[in-house]
Amino acid sequence: MTRSLAAHCRDRLDAVRAADRFRRRRVIEGAHGPTIVADGQCCVNFCSNDYLGLAAEPALARRLADASNTVGTGSAASQLVTGHNAEHAALEAELADWVGRERALVFATGYAANVGVISALLGKGDHVVSDALNHASLIDGARLSGAAKHVYAHADAADAAARLAACDGGNRLLVTDSVFSMDGDTAPLADLANLAGAQGAWFAVDDAHGLGVFGPEGAGRVAEAGLGSDAAPLVLATLGKSVGAAGAFVAGDADVIEAILQTARSLIFSTAPPPALAAAAREGVSQARAGDDRRRHLMRLIARFRRGAEQLGLPVAASDSPIQPLVLGAESAALEASDGLLARGYLVGAIRPPTVAPGSSRLRITLTAGHDEQQVDGLLAALEAVLIDSTASAAMPAKRLA
Ligand SMILES: *Cc1c(COP(=O)(O)O)cnc(C)c1O
Repeated sequence: MTRSLAAHCRDRLDAVRAADRFRRRRVIEGAHGPTIVADGQCCVNFCSNDYLGLAAEPALARRLADASNTVGTGSAASQLVTGHNAEHAALEAELADWVGRERALVFATGYAANVGVISALLGKGDHVVSDALNHASLIDGARLSGAAKHVYAHADAADAAARLAACDGGNRLLVTDSVFSMDGDTAPLADLANLAGAQGAWFAVDDAHGLGVFGPEGAGRVAEAGLGSDAAPLVLATLGKSVGAAGAFVAGDADVIEAILQTARSLIFSTAPPPALAAAAREGVSQARAGDDRRRHLMRLIARFRRGAEQLGLPVAASDSPIQPLVLGAESAALEASDGLLARGYLVGAIRPPTVAPGSSRLRITLTAGHDEQQVDGLLAALEAVLIDSTASAAMPAKRLA
């Protein structure tokens, strides 16, 4: 006999709560920015992926409003029917130009892009070789494709090479995040590109957290590493982070992109994103490309935060990106620290399993170009109060500021 659905769900919820993994959505009022109103409380926001501060940039909102006045709201169909608007076409051309590839193809989200691209290119009998800390959407894409999945030790090119060499028969795809979303560190992209090339394997990079932040004109970690289409034939990135809009894209050689367009089920069987959103994304791309001042300011804030956190003896990670996690261990330690920061007016997410491995729950601090120095200093003072002065939270191996 089947148990009642309600009883089944109550048990699952009890288990989530018992593990300190219950998650609650905050209600955000008003615009995203360095300060936000969350559940009615105004706080300094250190948990967005809006790295360049474009999510609430008036020029983007104007483009969205102007475009929706002309093209309406809905795209009304899949891209392959009548959903592909001139705004999408222009956006794709601009994205391809930005990351230096022949063509780009827009998806509704990064999740849909990764799932769609991997399952379009690989099937049963093929192999996906994947970093242990790759984004869930890459893992799900590999699962959906039916290919065998081989996980290599995080950022370990030698292990990736060995696992790639051990695959027999079929096509092989080596895939990695560029900047890892919960750790902030960067994959050894040039090494991975070389070993994939040497073994005749395909190579895909998810540059979601690199685009807009690194490289010439913010063209991403792949561009920064000087990897062209031969070395890194598949570049994926989202439009919902640095670009300040929503959606995602894959870029590569024309035939590769055309094959994905013809076969990616997450694109074929899904309504195209609103054309006005593509217009807003075009403005975001243009501002991100011209955003050297924003990038310089962001890099200064990252250095300031790291310097301050190191002086406090906090467990800073090996990250030069806007993602600056402090790994605390237990779910409860991360939760208590996050609550303590919020009580002081700082919103920082407590990241717990299944997003990160058990025992590595953390504060995930993200810096943006929208922050100023006082806000970063204020966060450091709040961290000192919560993680070092407080006896209520997990004991940290830390020294006091002199
Ligand atoms: C955010 C993210 C995605 C998913 O993108 P969405 O547009 O939010 O669906 C994919 N890959 C990585 C590495 C990400 O950080």
